[in-house]
Amino acid sequence: IIKEKQRNYYNLFDSSISENFRIMLTMESELRKALKNGQFELYYQPQKNLIDNEVVGLEALIRWNHPDRGYISPNKFIPLAEKTGLIIDIGDWVLMEACRQNKEWQDKGFRPMTVSVNLSAKQFYQRNLLEKVECALQETGLEPRYLELEITESMAMANEEEILKTLHDLRKLGVLVSIDDFGTGYSSLKYLSIFPISKLKIDKMFLNGLQRENQAIVRSIIHMSHALNMKVIAEGVETIEQLNFLTNEKCDEMQGYYVSKPLPADKLMEFLV
Ligand code: C2E
Ligand code: MG
Ligand code: MG
Ligand code: MG
Repeated sequence: IIKEKQRNYYNLFDSSISENFRIMLTMESELRKALKNGQFELYYQPQKNLIDNEVVGLEALIRWNHPDRGYISPNKFIPLAEKTGLIIDIGDWVLMEACRQNKEWQDKGFRPMTVSVNLSAKQFYQRNLLEKVECALQETGLEPRYLELEITESMAMANEEEILKTLHDLRKLGVLVSIDDFGTGYSSLKYLSIFPISKLKIDKMFLNGLQRENQAIVRSIIHMSHALNMKVIAEGVETIEQLNFLTNEKCDEMQGYYVSKPLPADKLMEFLV
């Protein structure tokens, strides 16, 4: 009986593995098609300077406009794209498209803004990342100081020498690098003080309700950023109370639903005028 049970258990196990594998393969081929057929779109979320209340930056956030399933959130497909390596091709597209769009807005006469592009770990560790960034800037004509690359704490704090070289190369090129979701990962304060990082992005979890503990954390991140000559932006700002708190604490910038959700390019332009 035990043997029989074991066999069934393993069969079950096998079939569920192959089922998951099948779903993954389907989605992978769909992702490939999506890239080829132009089903990806960038949305842009405005980032405001808290001193003069001007839009100084835009975060590019990818959306998958699926023919049957509608808009799919990046949280649902970026992890798979990472696993399969497709993130490289998708990331190349995002980088180029964000630079192109930002340059187009500048050419239309909008006040120059930075565009931030989220990098996945695989992208950041590519040996030819620098060439790809240079190529995107050259092809689109966007000045380096209007491009920001967002990486996460875990990406920045691992494998120090190579990372440090990549970050220095990017700085030499003139593009900005920020740390996304700051406070949710493992940062080494030593690296933070050495690495050429332009900006910390305080994760939205610390804005939640802004209880006393979170207030203390946000305040500390703001002070630390300034002490280390970095700018600081708060993500996920949804209320006037949060905004007032951040302004009082001399946070540099904010983004969040209070100002605007991420918008498609045409809607963003309406927002700006
Ligand atoms: P993220 O980089 O931390 O982006 C911020 C996320 O918070 C976005 O979700 C944005 O829509 C959402 N958000 C903005 N303001 C608020 C707010 O006030 N309240 C709340 N509750 N949420 C807010 P989204 O667009 O679904 O993106 C999720 C994540 O997917 C991003 O987190 C980023 O890590 C990743 N992602 C998005 N686009 C790309 C991309 O082009 N490449 C890569 N590698 N990852 C991307
Ligand atoms: Mg981000
Ligand atoms: Mg992120
Ligand atoms: Mg974030």
